[in-house]
Amino acid sequence: MKPKPFDYVRVDTLPALFSALAAHDNAKIIAGGQSLVPMMNFRVAQPEVLVDINGVEALNHVGRDGDWLCIGAMARYQDLIDSPLVRESLPLLSEALGHVGYPAIRNRGTLGGSVVHNDPSAEGGVALCCLGAEVVVASAKGERVVPIAEFFVTTYLTDIAPHEVLTEIRIPVPLPRSGSAFRELAKRVGDFAIVNVAALVSVGAGDKVSAVSLALGGVAETPLSFDVGPAVIGHPLDAARAAEAARLVDALSDPQDDNVAGGEYKRHLAGVLVKQALLAAYIDAMAKGA
Ligand SMILES: Cc1cc2nc3c(=O)[nH]c(=O)nc-3n(C[C@H](O)[C@H](O)[C@H](O)COP(=O)(O)OP(=O)(O)OC[C@H]3O[C@@H](n4cnc5c(N)ncnc54)[C@H](O)[C@@H]3O)c2cc1C
Repeated sequence: MKPKPFDYVRVDTLPALFSALAAHDNAKIIAGGQSLVPMMNFRVAQPEVLVDINGVEALNHVGRDGDWLCIGAMARYQDLIDSPLVRESLPLLSEALGHVGYPAIRNRGTLGGSVVHNDPSAEGGVALCCLGAEVVVASAKGERVVPIAEFFVTTYLTDIAPHEVLTEIRIPVPLPRSGSAFRELAKRVGDFAIVNVAALVSVGAGDKVSAVSLALGGVAETPLSFDVGPAVIGHPLDAARAAEAARLVDALSDPQDDNVAGGEYKRHLAGVLVKQALLAAYIDAMAKGA
């Protein structure tokens, strides 16, 4: 199918973007177009005006601000994967984005577009939940900062109004002796994951876990964080502790059947991937020395 006819506007600055959005009732931002264009082709989305933000330089940055990494909404997956700054300060994000789709998707798609689109198993969203990211949402009236878990409302719905723009994603850089891992299973390489898991583990004295963060995709309407601290904090992480953490996740989640897999299978898969990711993150943290 072809999209309904639409007008096209290209903007280069944020003020011009805010004006363009304010001037049209049924306008949509287009970034990499990797979700929006298929939705328009299927006529799930029928904007009257596309506002192209590919020329807005103010949205295309990656930089460190103290203990935070700040990523402009237009940063493309492949640029983030290739960025030494991201690889060094947030290896979990690099690893997760490497699982997104195919090279063509990673070359065009943006992290900001993925976050606004909010597929429940999008690798970027799962990693950002695990890392405790915040997003900056701006309009002509000013800015607001929203924790990522609150920004994700439900599948394909986020806390952003039609006149607002996601400008930046801010991510706290993990503590020095931290390790991370990302695990997923998809039917074919490049497909959306059935279930995916991001884990971040910090280690303190006696090689005991001092902090842990875990997020899963594919088990609920949005990427979700799970508190597995009670199972692992204060102990070295071994297979038994990882299994206890997986039991906690199982008790707190209720994956449903969908067109990719059954809920029971996802539940089993989540358990396997949680154990793998936690142990791999712990080994990664231990490799960073005492
Ligand atoms: C074949 C194929 C395979 C894929 N596989 C995967 C996969 O394995 N994992 C995965 O996570 N994704 C996958 N995707 C989806 C894709 O990664 C992202 O959803 C997509 O790249 C979103 O980013 P974009 O820049 O292309 O956004 P667009 O498609 O341009 O926009 C998506 C939505 O976000 C809005 N938007 C974009 N930027 C902003 C902004 N700054 N402020 C406000 N609103 C904004 C748009 O209006 C639109 O509603 C796949 C897509 C395809 C076509």
